[in-house]
Amino acid sequence: MAQAAAVQRPLPDRNEFESIRLVTIGSRFSESIDATIAWCRRYGLLAQTMVCPVCNLLCQEGVYNRVIDGRVFRCPNRDCRKVSSIRKGSFFEAAHIPLWKVIAITYMWSTNCGRPRGPSQEFLMRELDIGSEHTIVDWNQFCRDVAVEYFVNHPQQIGGPGSIVEIDESAFAKRKYNRGRMVPEKWVFGAYEAARKRGVMVMVDRRDAVTLMPVINQWIAPGSIIWSDMWAAYNQIPNQGFQHGTVNHTHHFVDPNTGVTTNHAEAMWSRAKAKFKSMMGPTNRDMIGGYLAEFMWNQRFGDSPFFHFWTQIANDLYVVN
Ligand SMILES: [Zn+2]
Repeated sequence: MAQAAAVQRPLPDRNEFESIRLVTIGSRFSESIDATIAWCRRYGLLAQTMVCPVCNLLCQEGVYNRVIDGRVFRCPNRDCRKVSSIRKGSFFEAAHIPLWKVIAITYMWSTNCGRPRGPSQEFLMRELDIGSEHTIVDWNQFCRDVAVEYFVNHPQQIGGPGSIVEIDESAFAKRKYNRGRMVPEKWVFGAYEAARKRGVMVMVDRRDAVTLMPVINQWIAPGSIIWSDMWAAYNQIPNQGFQHGTVNHTHHFVDPNTGVTTNHAEAMWSRAKAKFKSMMGPTNRDMIGGYLAEFMWNQRFGDSPFFHFWTQIANDLYVVN
């Protein structure tokens, strides 16, 4: 019996992804499971072949009405006949909803992640005919995880020799609970390269030099020109292979002599904080990291988010046969 071979697929077609709208998903994908499976396979989002985990034989695909997709892979060995889901190993594997609904949720997440407020849970539950609020919450989280993974796997620095990078740190998630209990502040270090519109936001435990300098060295390329306020922790910047310009915020926002400013970094804070407020102020450390990653991801990929979302899944995160 034949062994599974690596399947050569066309690269995802960016134009096709950009032509997809929610109504396309509603018509093309919700109407036809075959069209949905074919599209997913064309771009490597579902496996084309499956090998029986017991016999190591190439499975055959067949109709099986007891599963949500109506299709399964079956082992050809008559003594085995093990059945495998067509979703095995894919981003869809954990879902208990039809493929087209997952595609619709990812479309809504990726095309709205740059806005302070995405579509409400009620809206998604009604439009996609999903009965459980938890399903929506979970899948939005899985989408956000794709953004988190991207920056874990691609920790590219911003800046570079002669490029200006504005830095600033800001308190997030400062929130008063009833009975006056204050949740400890979470500091977020931010760096923004205005010329390329690229930002980095990282949660830090403290905002002293011992904490901040390694973060600066990790995320900002050597030779960059770093602009900051007069915060004492930044005094060491010139000793670490960067040029350093400062602006004294007690006097002005743009230094009249040097032009140094952190206005662009602060504009990034306002956009990020608008998003946090609409998310009811996540206070849990993982959640803040997730929302920061979502914000950064949109900065990088907001020009073609649905295409980039699935390309990253197919190429990096859920590589299937
Ligand atoms: Zn088998």
